Amino acid sequence: MSTVVDELGARLKTYEGRAAAVAGKGKDPVNEPMIRHWCEAMGDTNPAYVGPDAVAPPTMLQAWTMGGLSGYTGRTGRTGRTGAYDELFDLLDEAGCTSVVATDCEQEYLRPLRPADEVTFDAVIESVSDRKTTKLGTGYFVTTRMDVRVGPYLVGTHRFRILKYAPAHKKGNGKERREGKREGVRARRPRPVVNRDNAGFWEGVQRHQLLIQRCTDCGTLRHPWLPGCNACGGPDWDTIEASGEGTVYSYVVMHHPPFPAFDPPYAVGLIELAEGVRIVSNVVGVPYDKVRIGLLVRLEFQRYDDEDGPLVLPVFRAQEDREGGAG
Ligand code: ZN
Repeated sequence: MSTVVDELGARLKTYEGRAAAVAGKGKDPVNEPMIRHWCEAMGDTNPAYVGPDAVAPPTMLQAWTMGGLSGYTGRTGRTGRTGAYDELFDLLDEAGCTSVVATDCEQEYLRPLRPADEVTFDAVIESVSDRKTTKLGTGYFVTTRMDVRVGPYLVGTHRFRILKYAPAHKKGNGKERREGKREGVRARRPRPVVNRDNAGFWEGVQRHQLLIQRCTDCGTLRHPWLPGCNACGGPDWDTIEASGEGTVYSYVVMHHPPFPAFDPPYAVGLIELAEGVRIVSNVVGVPYDKVRIGLLVRLEFQRYDDEDGPLVLPVFRAQEDREGGAG
């Protein structure tokens, strides 16, 4: 691939630095009701976001630039969109890169936003990557940077990256894929996405230990693993090993869409561990239609082998003839 002159890539590169939006204007000023709804949805009770001196949660940055379901038509605000982004997308579509997936977002906060602030924004196509091949397919990463201002002041930047790609060719006909079969070989089970925030959890699973993070400042347990404590904000933590006892707190039965490597219908449980935290996992050892809220379950580790080698996952086995709660 590196020996092939990438003409499309060269054309795409000419879009770097071009404006994607100019002089956009937020649909609503920064306001208390939107802040309140956001905090309720996020479960964020930080006192900085209420009262006469309230500021907006920094992570709301993009919310003040969005048009909402009704878009920007017929009300205040304007997108400021130029044609450059659409042109770039058209070029990629024509080249067969018809699929798109958002890959990541970075935000930087420079000044707090307060109710009544009127937000304006500009966006630029910051970079277009070289042609990349990922498991999804081959395409280009496009990074857009939005600068958000109040008056002359830059209050924050929002970088948004997408992969626009040609889907990788799938082997087998549609029916075989739907049934999770590929030339007689069962489709691979999805692998966990391991990163530096959760690596310790998956290392524990390899050792057949389910480790729960514990804040060493306030002692609050948390799962899934996070870099900081939701209760006190503390960055330091250690772990405790789960006893393995739990109950089904809630569950869903998956019928559709069928995923290769799974045989629907099957139950996905939200398990409340004896320690109080909850984990999403499979409930095994019981038919899917016998899973119910309050069912007592016990942790075990299941090994799955396929062409990609062994995979160990925590699952929860129903404890026969026993039920939690007042039963
Ligand atoms: Zn804490």
